[in-house]
Amino acid sequence: MQVYDVVVIGAGPAGAVAAAYLNKMKKNVLVLEKETFPRFVIGESLLPHCMDHLEEADLLEAVKKIGFQKKTGAAFYKEDAKCDFLFSEQHTKGWEWTWQVKRALFDKTLVDEIQKKGVEVRFNSTVKKVKFSSDTQLVEYEDEYGNNTILKAKFVIDASGYGRVLPSLLDLNEPSDLETRGAIFTHVVDKNRTEKAGNNIFIHAFNDNEAWLWAIPFSDGQTSVGVVGKNELIKEFSLNNGEKFKNFIQNFENLKGRFTDLSLVFEPRTILGYSIGVKQMYGNGYVLCGNSTEFLDPVFSSGVTLATYSGLLAAKLTYQQLSGKQVDWETDYENEVKKGVNVFRSYVQGWYNGDLQTIFFSDEINPEIKKQICSVLAGYVWDTTNPFIKKHKTILPTLAKVVRLKQSI
Ligand SMILES: Cc1cc2nc3c(=O)[nH]c(=O)nc-3n(C[C@H](O)[C@H](O)[C@H](O)COP(=O)(O)OP(=O)(O)OC[C@H]3O[C@@H](n4cnc5c(N)ncnc54)[C@H](O)[C@@H]3O)c2cc1C
Repeated sequence: MQVYDVVVIGAGPAGAVAAAYLNKMKKNVLVLEKETFPRFVIGESLLPHCMDHLEEADLLEAVKKIGFQKKTGAAFYKEDAKCDFLFSEQHTKGWEWTWQVKRALFDKTLVDEIQKKGVEVRFNSTVKKVKFSSDTQLVEYEDEYGNNTILKAKFVIDASGYGRVLPSLLDLNEPSDLETRGAIFTHVVDKNRTEKAGNNIFIHAFNDNEAWLWAIPFSDGQTSVGVVGKNELIKEFSLNNGEKFKNFIQNFENLKGRFTDLSLVFEPRTILGYSIGVKQMYGNGYVLCGNSTEFLDPVFSSGVTLATYSGLLAAKLTYQQLSGKQVDWETDYENEVKKGVNVFRSYVQGWYNGDLQTIFFSDEINPEIKKQICSVLAGYVWDTTNPFIKKHKTILPTLAKVVRLKQSI
């Protein structure tokens, strides 16, 4: 039986970046992927910081060639108020733009590239069991014909995303501390889009900050449109093939008739209760990365960037361990990943409790503060020179309080 250095479960962005790095470091990597690619997955608006991870994994040039929609900022709305962020105006020195992507093509581009570089990828291969021991892990997967195969690996990286393979097998799943929410979404033909609207993600709060709508334009003239809210709202929107959802986006006032003449690319799809946590992110012989760790909320488009960040870090530490170096997984991995996740957690909480809207839509916000918040929205959430990261737990409620006080005078 062949022994791989590393088996990666899942070929999404976390898995592809992890496999690319280990392959670059001359490790023998196998990726096992349940589906065949291209396959649909939600998560289409990237953040500038993920460009750093793609670059370090030598995947950026391949993605550049596709011509995905350039994203230069994010626009937030509530009723008549608007707040624009431009990634060129931020605190952290880093990427000033990124892409909005149909994930089927984006993920396939990454996987094609790692295969070209020599990574072995087996599609239609669903990991069912993993047996851990001190030095060799036995990974069992089922192929499309129902045949089971057992492989040996020195180390396993779980990048199975919503599949949550090891969290389920090892009983690591934990409920999220965020409220339960869901989403309904589709792709539409966006004939009425203005050129400026193409470069932004459009996020519009409604129902007193309990729900919001997204519009994520793609370079092929289509746009992803979705609504996020409490599960009850999403269930109601999804009845009769999403009838209420379709009416809602057709008549949404601030989209100014952009989708009146609604032409859907596919019928609306629903995800309920997407937030989930995990008890631990590593153990003997394995590490979790991307969505198989914790998933918070889509409002700041952080999912893929956290996936590429954690995939890359997991791969670097795995490489060190396989090279005989001592790795402190708690400090160097779990705590590092959590630093970024927890910054986003504060912003997600601030979005739904209204603090962020108070800040975003106030005239009181000076350009320096806006730049610092913009770096969070660009994904540079490990930069502790930024007070909006260093003091993320307290700074938003404090600033919102000051703004409200000024507004009341
Ligand atoms: C409504 C909504 C909107 C979102 N919008 C955004 C956004 O705009 N921007 C953003 O960055 N993120 C967004 N996200 C988050 C984004 O979807 C995820 O964070 C991202 O896809 C995680 O990448 P990943 O590589 O960890 O997992 P995935 O992309 O899910 O890839 C995991 C892979 O593992 C495979 N797999 C699963 N089980 C097995 C198994 N047993 N054996 C083998 N393979 C397996 C799957 O087939 C899949 O290909 C959104 C999420 C939701 C719910």
